[in-house]
Amino acid sequence: MNPNTWTVTWHAFDPARSGHEATAFTCSNGYIATRGTHPERDDGLPATNVAGLFTDDSLGFRTLATCAHWLTVRLEADGKVLDPGGSDITGYQRCYDLRRGLVRRRLQWRVGRRRQLSVETEHFCSLASRRVGVQLYRVRASGAPARVKLTAQVTGRIKTRNEELVAGHRVTTRDGAATITARTVTGEYQVAQHAIVRVSPAAEMRLVGRQGTATWQVTFTLRPGQTMTLYKVVGFAADRDAGPTYVDEAAAAAEAVARRGYAAELRRHAAAWADVWRDADLEIVGDDAAALALHYATAQLLGHSPRDDDRVSLAAKPLCGEGYRGHVFWDTDLFMTPAITALRPELGKRLANYRWETLPGARKNAAKWGYRGAWYPWESSDDGTETTPRYWLNTDGRRMPVTCWKYEIHSVCDVAYAAWDYYAATADLDWLLTKGAEVLVETARFWVSRATYAAERKRYEILDVCGPDECHERVNNSAYINVLAARNIAQALRVLEMLRRRRPRDHERFRAALKLSARELTDLRRVAARMYIARDPKTGWYRQFDGFEDLALIDPLTAPERIEHPPAAAATQLIKQADIIMLLYLLRDQHPRQAMQINWDYYVPRTQHNTSLSAATHASVAAQLGLPRTALRYFTEAVNMDLLNWRGDSDRGLHGAALGGAICGALFGFGGLQFHEDHLSVDPILPPGWQGLRLPFMYQGRRLLLEVTPTGFELRFRAAGKAVTVVNAGQRRMLRSRGVLKGTLLPQAAQRTIKGIGRPDARRAARLGHP
Ligand code: BGC
Ligand code: BGC
Repeated sequence: MNPNTWTVTWHAFDPARSGHEATAFTCSNGYIATRGTHPERDDGLPATNVAGLFTDDSLGFRTLATCAHWLTVRLEADGKVLDPGGSDITGYQRCYDLRRGLVRRRLQWRVGRRRQLSVETEHFCSLASRRVGVQLYRVRASGAPARVKLTAQVTGRIKTRNEELVAGHRVTTRDGAATITARTVTGEYQVAQHAIVRVSPAAEMRLVGRQGTATWQVTFTLRPGQTMTLYKVVGFAADRDAGPTYVDEAAAAAEAVARRGYAAELRRHAAAWADVWRDADLEIVGDDAAALALHYATAQLLGHSPRDDDRVSLAAKPLCGEGYRGHVFWDTDLFMTPAITALRPELGKRLANYRWETLPGARKNAAKWGYRGAWYPWESSDDGTETTPRYWLNTDGRRMPVTCWKYEIHSVCDVAYAAWDYYAATADLDWLLTKGAEVLVETARFWVSRATYAAERKRYEILDVCGPDECHERVNNSAYINVLAARNIAQALRVLEMLRRRRPRDHERFRAALKLSARELTDLRRVAARMYIARDPKTGWYRQFDGFEDLALIDPLTAPERIEHPPAAAATQLIKQADIIMLLYLLRDQHPRQAMQINWDYYVPRTQHNTSLSAATHASVAAQLGLPRTALRYFTEAVNMDLLNWRGDSDRGLHGAALGGAICGALFGFGGLQFHEDHLSVDPILPPGWQGLRLPFMYQGRRLLLEVTPTGFELRFRAAGKAVTVVNAGQRRMLRSRGVLKGTLLPQAAQRTIKGIGRPDARRAARLGHP
């Protein structure tokens, strides 16, 4: 184990980046997420979110309600107050121990001329007791005795986007413990937190509960060499997940952990993380910074993954920030789920299940607008209905309408893609033939009702849409959408056929329940077969949408700021993010390299990468095109999105798509893995400067390991399993449990300089110092 790749360390406190720091040091166990603010400070948006606790804000927009802040501890010594940013701090180190999911801080605090206090803090959201957060605050004196006062707090009153979205707080205290209850402002959900604070050596503590906040206070005289420790345990529960006994659940969870004690709970938590890492330690050899960032992405994504509830999913900003109000986008289906499924399929299944759980809402969306089947919303919250906010407020108070939700219907084929992808990666036939079938058929139905028949051309078209490139909102025949919609329908038909052959009775029941007539099946077949796809049959070049080439050609590097945003950008060929490149990534097995290259050369110079999603996709496609140097540049951006605050907005939460996309970049880009129903493909490549890649992953129940070195690769089983068909460099081979499959790396293409318009990644590349 290389210790440099497991701990994120910051060496100073800087108030200017407190929001970024709080996001970067967020810890989560999938049920609660706590932003990594400092116990002594209120900046950086202190917050704990509980999965699924949605409500409506004062504008009427569905929003995840922040409901707690439990990290506060104030330390006073001889009348002075500790501030981690103060000039009397003589030693500072804050670490995120990724292996154990533990945030730690060590401070040296000079109090007057003679006294020095060492202050150690730690906290974690227990992966072993998922309702519970645990904090330790330890003070040690040296020099001269110090009169020390500790004030610990837990509050339920905390703002989300500047307003309190939980209300009606009540605090009750008993035997040194406090229970805070509240409800979301719409009254839909009730939430409780139960906090226990202990100090050692034992001492009398004053506990006051007031206005949604519980405060404990204790005063000590610390002799030189003496240590005092404060230990805080907070249990959370909401009626939406724990039922009517949620208050008791919160208390019972906290009490169990408090009884065990800090060290014992940390051991359980660390053991749970060790279990996660056993299957998820993606290792980059020879580039410690990249290796650390990849561990970080994996820790955050797997930490935030829901473990106990299929009615919640991973939001665009997982569970840890105000950005996008806790909503779930396609980011989850195409960037996060595939990464998670490859490492921990049982967690990937939960995300796939969320889409099934929210089918009723998606059906409602479709029906509301006169369509059939299921229209998965652009932004989803607790029930699958459309929750994209209808406007956002400009700094001058103007309402800026948000209309993309109506056109950005690729969310539907993205969910369908993810359903099939989950099946291909896991061979979970039971899931496919039940939940998966329902998702695939209902989404297919949507397309049939949404497509238009162009009689004169004898083809189906999908009009008035927006592809992943949000610069062009109301366009016709997005290649991305048409290709994936046709595939969506074809896969629905395929799964119906599988059901008919394998489980004829279930097939009958299924069709009856969905009222799926023979005529409708014919419609499905016809629309899939005659879907219009604008692809040049000779070269494989896709037209992004009708009329794309007629728009003004503008270099993203020199485009003025005002044109970076629609509607100005709509009149140009500026592309916000991977669109055709995303399509190539998703269907990388279906495009000859030459066709991928033609599209790459055409679309990349037009792309702004004006979102956190774009870099990872470009990294994977570049790797598969044999452009490892370019791939590394994009990968570096994706994997450092939040550690380095790449887009400058990490204070609003982690970028889940970048975390997942970076993992996908390692597995599917550099590793060149692709999970098919009947075989596994592998075509790795190694970027310059890396000595190796060690990629454990799961494929259809098999624990496999792909090791890539500068001279080749080896694929083997980590644990005995069924033989697997592997395709490498176009050759089918068999890998058996005890065997090793060896091969060479993808050949590198000549590094390309794209002439005419500037390379959009040059600015970022310059910042990174890459050539
Ligand atoms: C994003 C959209 C999103 C909207 C409202 C925009 O910045 O590009 O995808 O729906 O915000 O949340
Ligand atoms: C992107 C979308 C994405 C959303 C949430 C937007 O800026 O354009 O593709 O789904 O952010 O991350």
